[in-house]
Amino acid sequence: MKILIADDEAVPRRVLEKQLTNWGHEVMVAKDGREALQLFQQHDHKMIITDWMMPFLDGPQLCAEIRTLEADSDNPSFIILLTGKTSSEDLASGLASGANDFISKPFHQLELEARMRNGERILSLQTQLSRQKEEALQLARTDSLTQLMNRRAMLDIMRLDEDRMRRERRPLGVVMIDLDHFKAVNDNHGHATGDMVLKAASECFSQTIRGGDYVGRWGGEEFLIALPGADIIQCAEVAERCRNRLAALRFSLDDGTILSVSASFGTASAEGASRAELLDLVNQADKALYWAKDAGRNRVKIYVASADTEQQRKPH
Ligand code: GH3
Ligand code: MG
Ligand code: MG
Repeated sequence: MKILIADDEAVPRRVLEKQLTNWGHEVMVAKDGREALQLFQQHDHKMIITDWMMPFLDGPQLCAEIRTLEADSDNPSFIILLTGKTSSEDLASGLASGANDFISKPFHQLELEARMRNGERILSLQTQLSRQKEEALQLARTDSLTQLMNRRAMLDIMRLDEDRMRRERRPLGVVMIDLDHFKAVNDNHGHATGDMVLKAASECFSQTIRGGDYVGRWGGEEFLIALPGADIIQCAEVAERCRNRLAALRFSLDDGTILSVSASFGTASAEGASRAELLDLVNQADKALYWAKDAGRNRVKIYVASADTEQQRKPH
């Protein structure tokens, strides 16, 4: 373990350093609290053993500074205060500053070992907990069938990209995709085949887009590609490439059938002063997608505002 020792007295500092090094730890030493804080900021130690009385920053002040730095961390360091102080008031104020434990000076080797083992156990539980939290978060953002981002994760990232593109005065493009007559795939070949096709389609789109672009599963047989920086023509080119590759796939089924599928694509891109908000942009791509369905499927349509107005004027 990487351990930071802070003590202004050379002899106890060396004794502690030697002991910890003998136990196989990687030890760094500081001669006062200020130096310790610098080393902590550079090396992110998980265990800190610090003297109470030191110049510049004393032990409790060092604890408080470290806790401020770690305010957003779900895996904070374990801090042990070394002290000759034993009154309840002292111990209470040491804990209030953020220390996890105390060792009274002069320390006994057995006590040091026991308190460190306690610290290691807590650190390892913390690490485990933060890993599990990360995994749960990842799971909540991933579509389990295709392993693509789900709609929520996709929207989160797209919001960040939309802000970035707005600042850089660049467009943000989206492509909405819906597999054609997919219900018939399920009805004719079974749900497992449908699932297999969905996975293949997601791989096909992932492999076709450029770096910096990303694809998510928007819903059942719907996918969305986000293309930061892409204008509507570039979006249409990417969509056309995806359309082509998907339509070229052949699936050999167990009953000997050779199955092929297609999808319809709608693209939209937001740029300029009157650029659409993210959800409006997605709706525009969705509208273009339905133009593609209307026009016979297996094709790409781009969103054109004037065409949309005509659409709205159409009597129902
Ligand atoms: P269109 O060309 O108009 O889009 O026709 P469609 O049949 O693709 O559209 P519809 O909305 O009628 O049907 C979508 C189908 O997608 C129905 C649904 O069961 C299927 N589907 C959605 N999610 C999944 C999934 O995770 N696995 C499988 N196998 N099928 C799914
Ligand atoms: Mg659909
Ligand atoms: Mg469909």
